[in-house]
Parts: sequence; structure tokens; C-alpha cells
Amino acid sequence: MSIRARFAPSPTGYLHIGGVRTALFNWLLARQTGGQFILRIDDTDNERNRSEALQPILDGFRWLGLTWDEGPEVGGPYGPYYQSQRGDRYHAAAMKLLETGHAYPDYLTREQLDAEKKAADAAKVAYVHRGPHRDTPADECVRLFQDKPTTLRFKMPLAQESVVADLICGECRQRTDLLGDPVILRADGRALYNFATVVDDIDLKITHVIRAREHLPNTYSQVQFYLALGAPLPQFAHVPVVNEPNSKKKLSKRDMAKFLTAEIRQKLKTIGWTDAEIDSRDDLNPATVAYYREMGYLPAAVVNYLGRLGWSMDDHSEYIPLPQMIERFTLDRVNDSPASFDPNKLYWLAGEYMKLLPIPEKVDGCLPFLRRAGLIGETITDAERAKIEAIVVAAGDRIKLFSDILPYGATFLRPEVIYETKAVEKRLKKPGALDILRNFLPALEACESFDAPALDKLLHDFATNNGLKPGDMVHPVRVATTGVEVGVGLFDALAILGRETVVRRIHQAIALASA
Ligand code: GLU
Repeated sequence: MSIRARFAPSPTGYLHIGGVRTALFNWLLARQTGGQFILRIDDTDNERNRSEALQPILDGFRWLGLTWDEGPEVGGPYGPYYQSQRGDRYHAAAMKLLETGHAYPDYLTREQLDAEKKAADAAKVAYVHRGPHRDTPADECVRLFQDKPTTLRFKMPLAQESVVADLICGECRQRTDLLGDPVILRADGRALYNFATVVDDIDLKITHVIRAREHLPNTYSQVQFYLALGAPLPQFAHVPVVNEPNSKKKLSKRDMAKFLTAEIRQKLKTIGWTDAEIDSRDDLNPATVAYYREMGYLPAAVVNYLGRLGWSMDDHSEYIPLPQMIERFTLDRVNDSPASFDPNKLYWLAGEYMKLLPIPEKVDGCLPFLRRAGLIGETITDAERAKIEAIVVAAGDRIKLFSDILPYGATFLRPEVIYETKAVEKRLKKPGALDILRNFLPALEACESFDAPALDKLLHDFATNNGLKPGDMVHPVRVATTGVEVGVGLFDALAILGRETVVRRIHQAIALASA
């Protein structure tokens, strides 16, 4: 039978890095074996049951290229894929357990349960609840429940071990005597999550349940539900957590806002986000997938990074293109201990992927960032595109993220140069700098072909003839023409600007620095 793996996100409004890593492991296994990857939406938590809280999750998956074969928007033969629409299935399964003597109604009140717990604590014995109707015959339980519906509990079989043969954690065992009789249906008829997920996984014919390690303790009860429902057990694999960078603390969804540091906020602002826009979204921080899209990471790099987060192909490879990852992924090479999230490594990988991207695609990826910054309009002319392409070529591997086009490209695309005060002080107000510019101007005006190699030769010849070091010229010429100290190679920059702009900006710089 082919593999059917699933990821079951709650609609939280964002796709968390830790979650999507778990999803990727499921996806890889499905793709490797020609199986199915299914998205099931755990939306029984009414408050968050909103479609706008799901959309960012679906968008994140689509951006990463992690397509799902069944689930929201695509449907499938085993739907509905939303827990909120599957209540009748949970009810039917619970009734089956009631009728077969695996469940019983429990009329005890919260106060009675609390008193039981208190008594157990006082006697220093582990508290496990077994309801008074646990041993009532099944048909009597059905009658009671029909007459007066209430909480339904699962009758945990005693004196046994619940065994989870986990593909990552190994064989894990738990004595059932230590497991209470779990509620499967609340008095209001709603199913408990632990039960619902089993019913779903059975209905959806899931063969592999690969999920976060925190669910392992629940799995002991879940295994008993499968057995009682007469369903085959899926394979389980519980993936270790992802920790915060340089920390033993879990990269938690709860306090991810702290990843929106002042530095990250500044980065977002330099690519055109306002404080209000940043604050209006709770997914703009490095713990979510959306952040990487907004910063212009290549999705392939993010996928590669996530795949390596706790899984290794051969103990050393970091750059693992997707086809290879699909081919080589195995759960037994998922590390049994927590993985540590390392944004620097992700950034490095982003650069590696960008190096390999064909220039036209790089240009396409940069355009939305230029547009957002107001440096180009909705549509661009062929000449504008050629200019952007020249910038991209000149910037070369300095562009690791598409948003990197802004620091390198802005000066070429703004009609007017913006002079950075510090650069002007340091490079143009330096004694002799303006004379160099004044004297170099006629050479620039007369230079026959205004391309990078010719300009390179021009400047070096000029330096030699005037007893200067090239560095004496490069810095003032760069600041005078681009306004800043860093950027693409100077000769590429001059060629992209063109003679007219270069000459105009040098005049402007001289006026500014001598004022
Ligand atoms: N919605 C659950 C979670 O996000 C899924 C648990 C499971 O995979 O069974 O943790």
C-alpha cells in the first residue's frame, strides 16, 4: 500500500518554522514513494476557526512548493478535511465504542472529580480516573447514554502495555494502568482532540503519522483507540523539537514575537515596510515562513534548510537540492535529539541557491522589491529591464536575497542621487578629493567607450599619470556618483549610470562638498 502521510495544522494565522519542518518530513516521504501528502485542518478550537487564519498557512505551503494531494482547496476522496466538519464521524466512532463495551457514560461532576484527585494527592497515589460505569454492561451503558447524554469515557484496558513502535524514538512503552480513562466525547457532544485525530487518521487511511515529539505521550492512549476501533495501527514517528538559536529552549509558537528584534524590524523597514504594517501582522518574524518570503529568500533554500534541520543525508552535506532530498530522505536519519535553528546557516544557503539562479529569474525575483520601494512602476520598459539586469549581473553573488537588490540597485534607479552624509564627510571632504574629481571629469567626458573595462583603464591611467594611487580616486568617484561607499564594482556602476549621469552627479557632488 502506498504511503499516506499528513500534516494537521491548526489555523493560527502563520506557518511556523518548526511545524513546516515536520510537514516537510511527511511530504518527503510521500513524494519519495509516490504516495499522498494530505493536509487536514485541526480547526475545532472555535475561536481560531477562521478562514483568514488558514490562508497564510496554505500560502506558505504553496510558496515552498509543498503541494498537497488532498485537503483544503483541492478536496479528495476522504473529505471533509476540516475537523470542524467531521463531528458526526467522531460521534459515530464514539457510539461504536459505547456499543462494543469500550466506552461508558460518566455522570460525575467536576467537583466530584476534583475531590477524587484531592484524595489521591493526599494519599500520595498517582491519580487515574475510572468512572463508576466502567464495568456496567455495554447495552446498559447505551441505554443510560441515550436517556441522558453526558461525557463519554474510553475504558482503558488494564494490566497491559501500550506500545508505540516509533520510527524515530524506537519502541516506547507505557503501562495502561497509569493511563486514566480518557474522555472521548464531552457532555456537549464535541470530541476530544486525542480521539478525533485517531478517527480522522483511520478515515483518511493514514499510514504514517509523523508529528511533533510533544504528541508522543498522547499516542499511548491513541494506540488503544485504534485497537478498540479494530483499525490497523499506522507507523508513528515523533520528530524532536526545534530549539531557538544557541539555546536549549524550544522555538515556541507562543513567544515568537520576540524574534521581531529591532534589527529585524530595521531590515523590514529598509525594504519598504512601515512600523504600522509590521505591527499589523503577527507572522513577520524569523520563526515563520512568511518572513522569508517577504525578505526575498528563495523557497528552495528554505526547504533545503528545513530538511537539514534535524535530518542528515550523510553527516556533512548542507546543500541538498530537493530531488536529491526526496530520493535520500529516511526517517531513521532524523536525529533523536532537538535540532537548533540557525538563521545564519539559512542565510548562507539562500546565497548558495541564488548563485545558481539564471539571471532572468533573478531579475524577475527582484522586481517586486523594486516596485514596493517605488523604484520602478507596475510595468517596465525593455530599457529599464536591461538596466536592472546589468545591476543584477554587476552585483553578482552579493545578491543573496531578492531584497538585496535595494542596497545595490537603488542608486541606479533613483532619478536623483542621495548622498550619505558620512560618506561625503569621509570621502569628498578629504583634502584633494575635489581636485581629483575636477581633473578627472574631462577624461570621463572624453572617454571613447563608456564601458567597465574602458573606465577601469581610464582611471588607472589617470592615476599613474598624476602620481595617484587608484584608491585615492576610487572612493571619491564612487561616493560622488552613487552617494554611498559600498555597492557593486565601481566601473560597473559608472557604466550602468552612463556618461551623462556620471558627469552630472560629479558636478553635483563638487557643489555639495565645497558648499
Ligand atoms: N494540530 C496538531 C498540532 O498542531 C496536530 C497533531 C497531530 O499531528 O496529530 O500539534
